[in-house]
Amino acid sequence: MKDFCVVIGAGLAGATAARVLAEAGERVLIVEKLNHVAGHVRDEFDEYGVLIHAYGPHIFHTDNSEVFRFLSRFTKWHHYQHKVLSYVDGMLVPFPINRDTIAHLFGVNISTSEVKDFLKSEVKRSTFNDPPQNFEDAVISQVGERLYEKFFKNYTIKQWSRDPKELSADVAKRIPTRSNRDSRYFSDRYQGLPKFGYTKLVEKMLDHPQISVLTSCDYFEIVKDLKAKFTVYTGLLDEFFDYSHGRLEYRSLKLVFETYDEVHHQAASVVNYPNDYDWTRITEFKYMTGQKSDKTTLCYEYPLDKGEPYYVVMSDENVKKRERYMKEVAKLEETREYLFLGRLAEYKYYNMDQVVKRSIDQVSNWLKGE
Ligand SMILES: Cc1cc2nc3c(=O)[nH]c(=O)nc-3n(C[C@H](O)[C@H](O)[C@H](O)COP(=O)(O)OP(=O)(O)OC[C@H]3O[C@@H](n4cnc5c(N)ncnc54)[C@H](O)[C@@H]3O)c2cc1C
Repeated sequence: MKDFCVVIGAGLAGATAARVLAEAGERVLIVEKLNHVAGHVRDEFDEYGVLIHAYGPHIFHTDNSEVFRFLSRFTKWHHYQHKVLSYVDGMLVPFPINRDTIAHLFGVNISTSEVKDFLKSEVKRSTFNDPPQNFEDAVISQVGERLYEKFFKNYTIKQWSRDPKELSADVAKRIPTRSNRDSRYFSDRYQGLPKFGYTKLVEKMLDHPQISVLTSCDYFEIVKDLKAKFTVYTGLLDEFFDYSHGRLEYRSLKLVFETYDEVHHQAASVVNYPNDYDWTRITEFKYMTGQKSDKTTLCYEYPLDKGEPYYVVMSDENVKKRERYMKEVAKLEETREYLFLGRLAEYKYYNMDQVVKRSIDQVSNWLKGE
């Protein structure tokens, strides 16, 4: 009898969908292929007792009160304002670029009111296509060639393994810069990390009498035996359709965790390395989590072509493939038996708050019969 809903994937998209369905009285089976819940926001204590983010650093930030209120039902928060330094010309300078960044790099003592004019003069002395034709033009048109070379060019080459001229100008529509000395990475109203970690947050979301959780189980191995009335799918878009329109490409990461016998090892939670070393950035988790310990664990990120899917690649070819898959999704969703949600199922980069918001909205619409 079709009297239950199935949710594939126990990341934030799946956990939110399951919770909203359960609270509306639906019985929910959540199927997760990994042996744990929380998907890419998974955090865990390493062998040295330091809380680390298994898939790279995650800082929650949102301007959306509804999302913040929803998640706050399942966690208290460790309030934290994220800061990033960039290692450039042998110095650690604030990033995004602010008044101090410019002062350190160019040895100029400018006031807040002079920063805009400084950037304008940087742009004026630069050469680029106007209107911008690609990522390189888009960045130079906002901060000029010198800052582009120092912060963006090599970081982009490392991250995407492509010439910035081959990337779309849309990726760099608005480069955040600050005229003042504000060194916060985000300016959203709500910022922080779940006080007891993301995994505990997701476990709490799934702790409901109407929700059953099945881990270490691949949906495609049991799909034939599942007779659900409604399926929320948060796995890979192309895999669902057996790759019928070809594989969608992802960039991956190799994460190397190192523990040191020190209270802190670097000067901020994240340090970017645009021009030096093979890694793109190093994260020191204790700054974010506020954990007290004599040891500290850092995560070095090395971009990879293949592996665990991390970042969607919005090349023309992938955009076209995605469109073909999304047409199939639309047909399935019209039947009201399926919903595709999240970073993998929609082949789209989402921040955590966006995924939660989308899951709440889409599932609520389904419940209302829309
Ligand atoms: C390096 C990195 C850093 C990030 N940092 C931030 C940040 O600081 N702030 C922020 O807001 N966002 C950040 N994000 C984005 C954030 O990770 C995503 O918004 C969020 O994880 C998306 O959740 P999801 O549920 O869509 O996907 P996932 O968390 O990937 O969940 C999908 C789940 O489905 C499961 N699954 C897939 N296929 C199957 C199958 N066949 N059967 C059963 N289960 C299956 C997977 O195992 C997985 O658990 C970052 C992303 C990256 C790549």
